[in-house]
Amino acid sequence: MTESAVMFAKDNAPRFVEELKALLRIPSVSTDPAHAADTRRAAEFVAAELRRIGMENVRLIETSTPELILAYGVGPGLVVPARNGHPLVYADYLHAAPVKGRPAPTALLYAHYDVQPPDPLDEWKSPPFEPTERDGNIYARGAVDDKGQLWIHMKALESLFAANGGKLPVNVRVLIEGEEEVGGEGIAAFVREHPEQLAAEVALVSDSEMFAPDLPTLCVGLRGMIYTEIEARGARTDLHSGMYGGAAPNPFVALAQIIASLKDESGKILIPGFYDKVAKPSADELKAWKALPFDEEHYRETEVGSTVLTGEPGYSVLERTWARPTLDVHGMPGGFIGAGAKTVIPARAVAKVSMRLVPDQAPAETFALYKSYVESLCPKGITLEVRLIHSGDAIVVSTDNPYVRAATSAMHDVFGKDTVFIRSGGSIPIVGDFIRELGIPSILMGFGLPDDNLHAPNEKFLLANFHRGIESIIRFLENVGAS
Ligand SMILES: [Zn+2]
Repeated sequence: MTESAVMFAKDNAPRFVEELKALLRIPSVSTDPAHAADTRRAAEFVAAELRRIGMENVRLIETSTPELILAYGVGPGLVVPARNGHPLVYADYLHAAPVKGRPAPTALLYAHYDVQPPDPLDEWKSPPFEPTERDGNIYARGAVDDKGQLWIHMKALESLFAANGGKLPVNVRVLIEGEEEVGGEGIAAFVREHPEQLAAEVALVSDSEMFAPDLPTLCVGLRGMIYTEIEARGARTDLHSGMYGGAAPNPFVALAQIIASLKDESGKILIPGFYDKVAKPSADELKAWKALPFDEEHYRETEVGSTVLTGEPGYSVLERTWARPTLDVHGMPGGFIGAGAKTVIPARAVAKVSMRLVPDQAPAETFALYKSYVESLCPKGITLEVRLIHSGDAIVVSTDNPYVRAATSAMHDVFGKDTVFIRSGGSIPIVGDFIRELGIPSILMGFGLPDDNLHAPNEKFLLANFHRGIESIIRFLENVGAS
């Protein structure tokens, strides 16, 4: 049956790509209220396809994330983030035949249909929402993150239904979200409140990448994160710097001084107690990372594109990005950012600051350390508000379980190579929710590549990996069904 499902996928490969393009044309930018209707349209597109291929109980689940509008009220051209409740898409198929006298296991398939904003638009070689094929890749916002990988799941299921006379070899629940790029609070609440509706033995999450082309990869560790805003207030209203400069406090200068005290030149974070709970990777893990094909100079040149790499001395790049915590500043809205000059001393300014966390740093505890340190740095004449926007736990998954074996065996059949176990510097908060609320491990099987430009202009997905991904998931689900 596996072989006929794989054959079905091969025979229908061109159609699968055309369907993916139709999904990529929908600008489902979850963070932008102007795209709220598009985001819903993407959910409906996915739901219609789940119905068409034979999944049951297909429905949209509304999420009730409170709308959070942070209006800075100063200066033109500011981005005002808003968080809408974008629906979850749910479907299931729960009639798989028992295996060896035991009920068939259930796999919970997760992906997301929302995408990052496409900006800066003028750096795209082809329009972000007009998918274009070049050099064996498909270019579009969401190509790899995560619509291409979402479509891998859909097409694996369709192929299995087609080859098995309208049945699946394993029970499947599908849960697809539309708020991954804005913190995923809707899905977190649903998983917390309705664990019985998601009962499963294993989750399959395809929102990650392979370490190198042709190298099957399972991601077994994710960094956690806390995303914060520091709002500094000085005078009651915006002031003219000619008349008041020298007497009025400046919130931007205050923020700059605070930020400069968060991290030293070597990349060490200066928050007291910040590193106390950091767990080191095992000696085996470090040894395996050393054996990975990683060229630091190539990485600097082609991926980072900077003159040097920065970060803590004494740790390799992989350790620094996978197993060490970091702190970054993402933007400082406020004041005057238009063309030309305006001599304003803004009344308020904001800095968006996040930290990537590693096991065993707890987000709430780390935020408390950060908040009290930032408050201790507050310059005179300034009042501060330190807010937590969202957070997620760091995760390490055990490689010793039958689902990992189902995945490595599936990928060996497709790629002809042993799987490498890596970590990712990014965060997929849902993996923590699945462990905590459902008590199930996640298999992080992704088919992106390091140069796929996710979250950046010219995002792409290698079409060969789209097709190999479908075959891998077909084989994985067959293996789980037979286990
Ligand atoms: Zn993603």
